Amino acid sequence: MKYVSTRGQAPVLNFEETMLTGLARDGGLYVPETIPVMSAGDIAALAGLSYEEQAFRVMRPFIGDAFTDAEFEAIIARAYASFGHAARAPLVQLGPNHFLLELFHGPTLAFKDFAMQLIGQMFEASLKRSGKRVTIVGATSGDTGSAAIEAFRGLDAVDVFIMYPHGRVSEVQRRQMTTPTEANVHALAVDGDFDDCQARLKDMFNDHAFRDRVALAGVNSINWARVLAQVVYFFSSAVALGAPGRRVSFTVPTGNFGDIFAGFIAREMGLTIDRLVIATNQNDILHRTMTDGRYTKHGVVPSISPSMDIEVSSNFERALFWAHDRDGAAVAALMKELAETGEFRISENAMTALAAIYDSGTADEATTSETITRTLAERAELLCPHTAVGVHVGDQHARRGNPVPMITLATAHPAKFPDAVEAATGVRPPLPSRMADLYERPERLTRVANDLAALQDLIEGKRQR
Ligand SMILES: *Cc1c(COP(=O)(O)O)cnc(C)c1O
Repeated sequence: MKYVSTRGQAPVLNFEETMLTGLARDGGLYVPETIPVMSAGDIAALAGLSYEEQAFRVMRPFIGDAFTDAEFEAIIARAYASFGHAARAPLVQLGPNHFLLELFHGPTLAFKDFAMQLIGQMFEASLKRSGKRVTIVGATSGDTGSAAIEAFRGLDAVDVFIMYPHGRVSEVQRRQMTTPTEANVHALAVDGDFDDCQARLKDMFNDHAFRDRVALAGVNSINWARVLAQVVYFFSSAVALGAPGRRVSFTVPTGNFGDIFAGFIAREMGLTIDRLVIATNQNDILHRTMTDGRYTKHGVVPSISPSMDIEVSSNFERALFWAHDRDGAAVAALMKELAETGEFRISENAMTALAAIYDSGTADEATTSETITRTLAERAELLCPHTAVGVHVGDQHARRGNPVPMITLATAHPAKFPDAVEAATGVRPPLPSRMADLYERPERLTRVANDLAALQDLIEGKRQR
């Protein structure tokens, strides 16, 4: 299996190289050259298997010879062993024809654990074999960073630096990043917003001398291996509801477009997905783009669903690549337009291609809170604010009379965002008992300016050699 860049100008890589590289050297994102298809029989045969067995069958065609079957099985087993639910991604019914896919039973209570726990194990297996070390730098709006630190803490061949926007993550998110005591993990509080952190990360990858000097590796949602890990639960949940004999739709609370793009891959692989519905909070750039074809930045406004407070939606580039018939030059031109003018316009043909797959909707702050309140009162489920955005948009979609079952992704546990949940319901959701002492553990972090040179110095200084 070969991987190519969405901008068409970077070397073609195999799976292991793609995983360790992150961002392509032409500034693009790696995608598979061709997407393997599963037959209806292969998909039907997933029914009744454990999540781990399903994960093996869905991901195996993408990894080439990076790992033997036995190694890959062991990696998957270790990745999901720390989850607090035997089904890993249980499906619960929210109402007639509307289901919630609970993706928050991992160690940091958000869906990011599915991918991060897996790539932690894959990095370790791969680096042990080669004897190399890498420096992982990540940018986070909260959940990626905590999941990365949790997945890589204490591993021998890896230093981890996570940049998060100072003052803009929830206390639980911050503490999950700042309380691990292992010397190889570092939380960096950057004076800026998430898009600043993501931009500095891209700058580091584009500084090829620095990149080579520290053996920079990326685990942000641009990393192909993360997208791949997330493809699995689209299969597991659809099959639980009767796929491939029955079609299903998904509503996905979206910021960086990683999770929903994994749904697109599942659909391309042959999974019987009807619609993929993009759900945005008040930072609705993706909803506006789907409405008028213009990707226009307005500035991020902090919300009660902070993990979606994003305007530079990195993985949307992958969707654009397919909407332009995999033409890297066309994607590169759009990204140049965005960098120069703060906007790009999508052609009519490409909009038609996007609209054939994706719908979109949005929930403002008041609607998000009301959805949390109403869902507890009427359906006895406590939602995190990100999930509430999804449930609102998923309900809206169902009201258009579509008979296909809707699965909304529950992306985080309500206890990860207790202030917003308490404000909406009067109920303060407790942390699961396995992490109940989080508020007592001492914190360790470094405050740093939104400045490339300052960040690079810090990383070079603290890295273990
Ligand atoms: C990261 C995150 C999202 C957004 O996911 P993307 O893949 O970036 O679109 C939504 N909800 C929660 C809780 C998250 O952590």
